[in-house]
Amino acid sequence: MKLQIVSNRLPIEIKKNKDKLSTKQTSGGLATGLSGLRQAYDMVWTGWPGIHTSIAEERAKIEGFMAKRNLFPVWFSQKVYKGFYNGFSNKTLWPLFHYFCQYAQFDDGHWQSYIKANQAFCQRLLENADEEDIFWIHDYHLMLLPQMIREKLPHVKIGFFLHIPFPHFEVFRLLPRRKEILKGLAGADLIGFHTQQYTDYFLHCVGQMLGYNIDGGNFADKERTVKARSFPMGIDYKKFSECANEADVIAKVKEYQKEYKGKKIILSVDRLDYSKGIIQRLKGFDRFLEKNPAHRKKITLLELIVPSRVGVPQYQRLKKEIDEFSGKINGKYGTPFWMPVRYFYRSVDFTILCALYYSADIALITPRRDGMNLVAKEYVAVHQNRPGVLILSEFAGAAQQLRESIIVNPNDINEIAQAIETALNMSVEEQEARMEAMQAVVRKTDVKQWAEEFIDQLRISAVQAESTLHS
Ligand code: UDP
Repeated sequence: MKLQIVSNRLPIEIKKNKDKLSTKQTSGGLATGLSGLRQAYDMVWTGWPGIHTSIAEERAKIEGFMAKRNLFPVWFSQKVYKGFYNGFSNKTLWPLFHYFCQYAQFDDGHWQSYIKANQAFCQRLLENADEEDIFWIHDYHLMLLPQMIREKLPHVKIGFFLHIPFPHFEVFRLLPRRKEILKGLAGADLIGFHTQQYTDYFLHCVGQMLGYNIDGGNFADKERTVKARSFPMGIDYKKFSECANEADVIAKVKEYQKEYKGKKIILSVDRLDYSKGIIQRLKGFDRFLEKNPAHRKKITLLELIVPSRVGVPQYQRLKKEIDEFSGKINGKYGTPFWMPVRYFYRSVDFTILCALYYSADIALITPRRDGMNLVAKEYVAVHQNRPGVLILSEFAGAAQQLRESIIVNPNDINEIAQAIETALNMSVEEQEARMEAMQAVVRKTDVKQWAEEFIDQLRISAVQAESTLHS
């Protein structure tokens, strides 16, 4: 019996530079969560290796390298991958599921590529699968896959986890291929979401669109029971909570303290994405500076933006808008000795990220929609014995758990400005008390616990489904 992990990307990515192949570890949240399961299960992982090649020698080399690590690449033509990834996944599902309906495109060619890509995943999995295996499929790229596997291997255990929000019925119903997507997911035994609200929205759609009776969190697809549950994803709490003891992090923190002496630091960290509310946040900071002249020169917004989906025009436009708005604030309030906004467009390593988290007096995290938002949890975990205030959007999944943050509506720039003021006036005792309460939650629901809980539930649901079948 194997545990088959399936995600769009493998945890190791292949890069090619002038005919030379190299490897790179892709960001490790999921991989860390699964590391505990690796000891209990024979685990294999299937996904795209990050490169297109039709050169047989190159493929064989990559296959060989991956096989030694129990990784199985899925190969696509560039055309199919583009329609599947840039197209249906990121121009249809991503905007719609984040309530940016005006950005969602419905293109039949992209849909066909989405089907083909899911079929390619299915074929690759079947080469190396048997009826005893447990499948755990991840995210919105692969929503047809549970049913495709179910048709070929009717009795395997299949789990699916959605890492982004599941939208309300009124938004989901806009999708022309809505029934196919729900039927695809219904091939699973267990479907997981970050919050109870996403779970309820999904079940409501299943009831309305497939006509199934919903009983608690369950429904029957033919004679199989399908369960939908919430599993809030966590972080590697140990790693983040201990990072401020590391010498290189301490050295960086000292550098920042020197540079920002006498100033408060507000930090925000996001991938470049319209769902992250970056412009609204800048407007909120602008309003704060306008209303609080006494705080000018004593506060800096450090804005770390990680490049993402650089090929999609919406993202290029957003980048330009952020450049311009940050420049506008600096032009309006800046002096030769003080920049209100310091903005970095790149990714940073773990040491710098931790030093930034630790140095920040306030984390300002205001997505307009976010499945969970792990940055908020990382900020909390790093702030051991160090005061700090988290300002968090009510539309991040994390807001369901981090109740001691200052919760804001990211569309209300006055509320953002007010929250910054409240954070600056908060006593150290209150900051510490709130931080400790949030740390207790983040510690208890870390990423390893998340993965183990999901697999435990999947095994139970599949056993229950089997006994119903045989009774
Ligand atoms: N992150 C990173 N490099 C950076 C800055 C951040 O890898 O330079 C990580 C960060 O530690 C976090 C993740 O990116 O784990 C972002 O996750 P989140 O859930 O907040 O947002 P997502 O990007 O998944 O929408």
